[in-house]
Amino acid sequence: MTQRFDAIIIGSGQAGPALAGRLTGAGMSVAFIEREHFGGTCVNDGCTPTKALVSSAQAAFVARRHADFGVTVGGPIGVDMRAVKARKDAIVKASVDGLTNWVKGMPGLRVYWGQARFTAAHRVEVNGEQLESDRIFINVGGRPVVPDWRGLSAVPYLTNISMMEVDFLPEHLIVIGGSYVGLEFAQMYRRFGAQVTVVEMGPRLIAREDEDVSEAVRDILAREGIEIRLNARCIGARPHEGGIAVSAVCEEGPPEVVGSHVLLAIGRRPVTDDLGLGSAGIECDQLGFIKVDDQLRTNVPGVWALGDVNGRGAFTHTAWNDYEIVAANLLDADPRRVTDRITAYALYTDPPLGRAGLAEHQVRASGRRALVGTMPMTRVGRARERGETLGFMKVIVDANTQQILGAALLGVNGDEAVHSILDVMYARAPYTAISRAVHIHPTVSELIPTLLQSLKPLG
Ligand SMILES: Cc1cc2nc3c(=O)[nH]c(=O)nc-3n(C[C@H](O)[C@H](O)[C@H](O)COP(=O)(O)OP(=O)(O)OC[C@H]3O[C@@H](n4cnc5c(N)ncnc54)[C@H](O)[C@@H]3O)c2cc1C
Repeated sequence: MTQRFDAIIIGSGQAGPALAGRLTGAGMSVAFIEREHFGGTCVNDGCTPTKALVSSAQAAFVARRHADFGVTVGGPIGVDMRAVKARKDAIVKASVDGLTNWVKGMPGLRVYWGQARFTAAHRVEVNGEQLESDRIFINVGGRPVVPDWRGLSAVPYLTNISMMEVDFLPEHLIVIGGSYVGLEFAQMYRRFGAQVTVVEMGPRLIAREDEDVSEAVRDILAREGIEIRLNARCIGARPHEGGIAVSAVCEEGPPEVVGSHVLLAIGRRPVTDDLGLGSAGIECDQLGFIKVDDQLRTNVPGVWALGDVNGRGAFTHTAWNDYEIVAANLLDADPRRVTDRITAYALYTDPPLGRAGLAEHQVRASGRRALVGTMPMTRVGRARERGETLGFMKVIVDANTQQILGAALLGVNGDEAVHSILDVMYARAPYTAISRAVHIHPTVSELIPTLLQSLKPLG
């Protein structure tokens, strides 16, 4: 018995629920298939819980600095990890409950709990049932990469998923991977009170960023006592009487680090190996990302791929924008495209890094004439008043068009302040739209016009 629907959505990531809302709102019958939990990675094991944990860690950090602010505290600052986890769980639960109620209230929508697998181009099997539709939307996301390194399978290790169950303080957390996910966990656990070592294979942290940004982040983490091991070759692991030994042959330091727990944070890969894509003839690239065009259509007509699985973004806001692009093209005759999107994201260390557009090294590689302005956060009054002066701001402008090419704001509120730059980039307005603007005093954004008044040719 085959059930027919106007649309099938596989995966309740960041695009699926909103798309279901638009499709059912347009009167379509929709099958919504999810194998684990509503909300996908972001809500359950990604953005929401990690940012809740980052906030607890920041509270501990500020509390320990109480004397800097003239505040007295009656005793030592402690962190109750069970309470930290309970707070995080409550925030996640509220989000999941809200999402669940929203989805379940959609008229014409039927939820299937189970693993979806294509059996033909327009047919999907779930729990032994066959579902068919002329429109199928894949929003299955990604999962942590677990490499086949020597000895790894013989030791316990954590990923961003199992970290969500941790309600104790690891004595010494070894974070393998010095990029966005790894660094957020590294700083938060250091602030909770653990000894933390970051082991990174590359010559610097967050290698996608400019060297000055990566160096400043390293400095911020090192000041808090996080041990950082770069150029780690031949990573492997073995059980050790003191916990787990991770081999990290680097130019500096001993060839092994012994810790109580290991967190693997070396990247994520798309969840396409168990989706039966071959039966549908849907093409993937070498890394398993589903190939899509500028409007997120796969090579099979009537099948779209949205979110992390298409390799065109790796963020909640890009997955959400994918939904907007598909809905606009399908329902609103509005030809929105992925290439209209400007890269933007944040690294939620404290202080955070807000990024928009191109990095300096990308501008240099493009060979275009450009102007650059930089400013240390020590010059920002708001940062001084808050006692948070680490980091710097950098903006790059096209010397011919006067349009902003990119920005990196590493500093207090950098994740928010970067939006004033991003919006001007979307408006394709010259940088003078900001450099002549009058911003509110005292804010971090207030110094962005001043930063843009100090542009110099990129040497
Ligand atoms: C630790 C961490 C922190 C992050 N922090 C941020 C952040 O601060 N900001 C940000 O923008 N991004 C962040 N991200 C990235 C963000 O979580 C993802 O980009 C976002 O979740 C988009 O995912 P998605 O919509 O592609 O799918 P996902 O959210 O991954 O959801 C996919 C869903 O599909 C389901 N599924 C998979 N296969 C099947 C199948 N065959 N059948 C049925 N169901 C299936 C899964 O169970 C899952 O629920 C973070 C990620 C991690 C890991």
